[in-house]
Amino acid sequence: MKYVEKVLKSLKKQNPNEPEFHQAATEILTTLAPVIEKHPEYEAAGLLERFVEPERVIMFRVPWVDDKGKVRVNKGYRVQFNSAIGPYKGGLRFHPSVNLSIIKFLGLEQILKNSLTGLPIGGGKGGSDFDPKGKSNREIMAFCQSFMTELYRHIGADTDVPAGDIGVGGREIGYLFGQYKRIRDEHVGVLTGRGLSYGGSLVRTEATGYGLIYITEEAMKARGDSFKGKTVIISGSGNVAIYACQKAQSLGAKVVAMYDSNGYIYDPNGIRLDVIKDIKEVKRGRIKEYAERVNGSVYTEGCRGIWSVPCDIALPCATQNEIDKKSAELLVKNGVKYVAEGANMPSTLDAIGVFQSSGVVFLPAKAANAGGVATSALEMAQSSGRMFWSFEEVDAKLKSIMVNIYHNIDNAAKQYGFEGNYVMGANIAGFVKVAEAMLAHGIV
Ligand code: NDP
Repeated sequence: MKYVEKVLKSLKKQNPNEPEFHQAATEILTTLAPVIEKHPEYEAAGLLERFVEPERVIMFRVPWVDDKGKVRVNKGYRVQFNSAIGPYKGGLRFHPSVNLSIIKFLGLEQILKNSLTGLPIGGGKGGSDFDPKGKSNREIMAFCQSFMTELYRHIGADTDVPAGDIGVGGREIGYLFGQYKRIRDEHVGVLTGRGLSYGGSLVRTEATGYGLIYITEEAMKARGDSFKGKTVIISGSGNVAIYACQKAQSLGAKVVAMYDSNGYIYDPNGIRLDVIKDIKEVKRGRIKEYAERVNGSVYTEGCRGIWSVPCDIALPCATQNEIDKKSAELLVKNGVKYVAEGANMPSTLDAIGVFQSSGVVFLPAKAANAGGVATSALEMAQSSGRMFWSFEEVDAKLKSIMVNIYHNIDNAAKQYGFEGNYVMGANIAGFVKVAEAMLAHGIV
């Protein structure tokens, strides 16, 4: 049996009931086969076995008291996956679906994503099955303080620097940081995505969405194409989706559909982002309200229908496995030319297969949504240097990082004979740097 197959088989046996982790590991490892064949020293050093095993997994109890005085208990996680090229870095997700499998898949992806940014950051991820939806500010604060009361002992500005993800935005980062500072008595860059008044960076809020558009724009440019006049659909209506929409619109595209976890809106005149922002960012309401406020738009219950809306560019920006084979086939049938993943692992393995065999330009998450973590690393640099860069400076750095990522994954794919296959290009380019660092460190 080949080395990659052997490692995957044993991973599945040793980690049963972790389907998302199996899915991510299968996607990554199978594409690395050509690199592994070229480097027999990797197998000799047990590199893949070590690569898929987190350096540390922390699981803890998070007790808190709700507004009715009732004691609640959630599960907390931090997976410190790989620190070969820098301190662990990766977001915290608060969502009822969170479990160890999901945090491990996200952590594994994060290693390669962070490597692709070209910045010195290792991979980690964390979160909780806590659901922030419908909770009061006091309840959110109580939960965040309890979460940090355990997490603080495992993180640090040079050890592990968490950030936001689904359900963890500026408000949550503020409460988490406040508790860390209180316990540790140090004001350092231990979390990113902080508010501008206490060490945050300009552009961090926009970074993942903007970065997604910058890399897609570069892929289009390489084909003599541009966003101008293109029809775009974006799933989700959270942080990534909103700023992807904003940048795509500023480049002349028409975004016609978006969703939240209840259903999607279709607006043939082009989404009015001011209304979306008011509903989702200010009122924390449901996207359904959009159709009540904007004439000519339609709301449909259920998310999946969004993929039946004809478009040139599809940007999945909500969550994992939101595009299955059937949805991918529908998109292709309706003429999609580019799919770029803003969310993590939004396309199933089958869906990716459909895109690749149909000539769709497919940009995988670890490359396409790396703008968020790259800007987090820029926030870390500003924190440790006690500096504050202008919006234009950070935005220019972000754009140049995304353009570089595109060319790195394009070159890696070409170098190994898989031109245009950016899943392979991203996995290979991200992995080689981590593998070299792991080899240099010996068996650790
Ligand atoms: P937000 O919490 O801001 O928004 C998430 C959006 O996705 C919401 O519209 C939410 O709907 C929707 N959503 C969440 N879960 C589901 C589901 N199971 N089914 C349908 N819709 C769902 O998160 P972000 O925008 O920050 O993150 C979105 C994705 O991007 C995630 O995969 C995340 O890992 C990834 N990502 C985020 C980065 C960042 O910088 N924020 C960086 C890199 C990747 P509702 O409002 O109903 O909950």
